[in-house]
Amino acid sequence: MCEFCVQHGDGQKWYLAMQNYSRELLDEDGRLDYIAHFANTFEERLPPALDQLDLLSRTPLHGPAKPFLTRNQKRDHFGQVVPLEEIEQILSQVDGIARLPCVCRRVTTGQKEARYCFALTGDPRLAEVLDDSFSLEYLSPAEAVESVRELDEKGLVHSVWTFKTPYIGALCNCDQDCIAYRICHARGYFQIMFRGEYVAGVDLDACNGCRNCMRQCQFGAIRYSMVNAKVEIDPRQCFGCGVCRAACHRDAITLHARADDPVAAEVW
Ligand code: SF4
Ligand code: SF4
Ligand code: SF4
Repeated sequence: MCEFCVQHGDGQKWYLAMQNYSRELLDEDGRLDYIAHFANTFEERLPPALDQLDLLSRTPLHGPAKPFLTRNQKRDHFGQVVPLEEIEQILSQVDGIARLPCVCRRVTTGQKEARYCFALTGDPRLAEVLDDSFSLEYLSPAEAVESVRELDEKGLVHSVWTFKTPYIGALCNCDQDCIAYRICHARGYFQIMFRGEYVAGVDLDACNGCRNCMRQCQFGAIRYSMVNAKVEIDPRQCFGCGVCRAACHRDAITLHARADDPVAAEVW
């Protein structure tokens, strides 16, 4: 189990513990105001913040600043990758689901209505505090599951996100236009989106070397081996999202517990 399960999981995976989605938590510590400020000011705040991070990354201060920045994110707002089957469990248990436009893509692509985000609450106050550009589209659990399955087929990585940890307020479906992906994976500024509880492995007897899975992986974790004409997965690079499975027509890829993998267990 990861550090978040130990701290917030009450003996289970923390993102399957329904108290972390509760309205009681939402009512504490000014979380609703925090969410409103986060979403309503995102487009204005992020471009200068990214410029500052870029400047910082070119100085010797970046090394010492990294753990400090990561610690702040863990306290306020971070994501963890979760595979489709557990996302389905979450969607069947939360008290409401609302699809809304993705704030990252507003900044990175200019798309205003890319509806890849799901708020994980039915609290009507959310619609009141978000500005008019965030029209909420309320979905039943079955509709939400169907939508996330379609995104999984397309290779979008699922993750849950805290708003003043441990409250989990959102499910995201991301590709390389995600600002978190760029901050922590592409540019290595600091950690904000953590690897999942799983790591993928390939059944070499089933793999025919077609490489479909390589195109699906956002993290460059799958490599083709010229030696045996099949693919292999680097456990250090794998985020455990599981979306490569949807691209494999031979069911050659499975997820197993990160904690049981001697290499991946050390990497979050
Ligand atoms: S984390 Fe992903 S889905 Fe969420 S706002 Fe960013 S890109 Fe959009
Ligand atoms: S998609 Fe499946 S069969 Fe094709 S290379 Fe990947 S693991 Fe092998
Ligand atoms: S190899 Fe790992 S990171 Fe890449 S798509 Fe598969 S599960 Fe996700």
